[in-house]
Amino acid sequence: MDRLNVAANDNLLGLHGEPPHERILMASDAASGLQAIIAIYSTTRGPAFGGCRNWHYATQHEALNDALRLSQGMAFKNALADLPFGGGKAVIIRNTKIHDRMELFNAFGRMVESLGGAYITAEDVGTTAADMRAVQAETSYVSGIPRGGDVYGGNPSPYTAYGVFMGLRESVHCVLGASTLENVTVAVQGLGSVGWELCKRLHAAGAKLVVADIDSARTAEAQQLFGAQIVDASEIVMAKADVFAPCALGGAITGSVASDCRFRVIAGGANNQLMSLAEGDVLHRRGIFYAPDFLVNAGGIISCAREYLGSAQEQAVLAEIAEIGQRVHQLIERVQTTGMAPARAAVAWAREKMIAG
Ligand code: NAD
Repeated sequence: MDRLNVAANDNLLGLHGEPPHERILMASDAASGLQAIIAIYSTTRGPAFGGCRNWHYATQHEALNDALRLSQGMAFKNALADLPFGGGKAVIIRNTKIHDRMELFNAFGRMVESLGGAYITAEDVGTTAADMRAVQAETSYVSGIPRGGDVYGGNPSPYTAYGVFMGLRESVHCVLGASTLENVTVAVQGLGSVGWELCKRLHAAGAKLVVADIDSARTAEAQQLFGAQIVDASEIVMAKADVFAPCALGGAITGSVASDCRFRVIAGGANNQLMSLAEGDVLHRRGIFYAPDFLVNAGGIISCAREYLGSAQEQAVLAEIAEIGQRVHQLIERVQTTGMAPARAAVAWAREKMIAG
């Protein structure tokens, strides 16, 4: 494999103002068309575990920045979930000319294998269980694959949605004082694998839904099945709702959203919802509770980790994911004690656990 041609800049090896990541592998494979980056933020708790995103990036720097941010988030997520893993993430720069997807993911599997177990991969946005099977043909450092028979494993998305639901419900309980989600209005941005499963659970719990997706077929289905109100994708961040659940891509909470949105609680599945911790401070000052993404969306990685470690049972995995609700409660106590905004308090908590190993 050849190295990617990424021009040097001050932040090439880490996020702005932070120590460099432990390891970054950038590779291309001419035969399959693969161009990918694996970023390992930390292995203090164990091998770096995090999914593989297959996405369109305008530049290689944009892809690198995404890998750096996502891998740091995975380190926080795995630490707060008490998993014996560090944080890493892979991004594949989507190439519309790829004709053999299997070959692409075989090549990515060889890239993962070349790290000798320092990084373990799984699905993320733009990748499927079938892709992970192609990865598995080249390496055993992969999860999120249906294993067959009674052996636990498979697509993490429903587990992610379950964890988000538990975290959202506890947030509503603590912040709004509501013992159930009956008649609580939740605005869901993005009705993909996670957002859709979340809507199913919210609807079953009696919540009222406001939804947006750039795919109008998805919103029409949500209107029909869940009685959801549809709003334009550009307007969901300002919708009138008690709760906002960002479940599309990152960066939903911009400065203006943090200053002007009308929600009481924000709890969703998307990674990197805040543009930066400063937006979390603005929300906190305005009395809006932000349940950090890396705390509430850990259900999928908990499922993948238990699959990877073996001998998992569905009920035990669900019970472990349900603990996300208790962790939200503990975070709120930390916020009350320290006065810190929830995002900062959660980062501090995760760092404590990363040092403890
Ligand atoms: P997905 O690709 O299945 O769904 C994303 C959905 O968002 C799609 O329906 C897409 O049309 C929609 N969308 C894109 N841009 C939008 C916009 N501007 N406005 C409204 N809708 C928009 O992805 P997913 O697996 O459901 O993941 C969603 C988010 O959750 C991602 O940020 C991902 O990193 C994060 N996440 C996913 C998992 C998992 O288990 N799948 C785990 C942890 C975190």
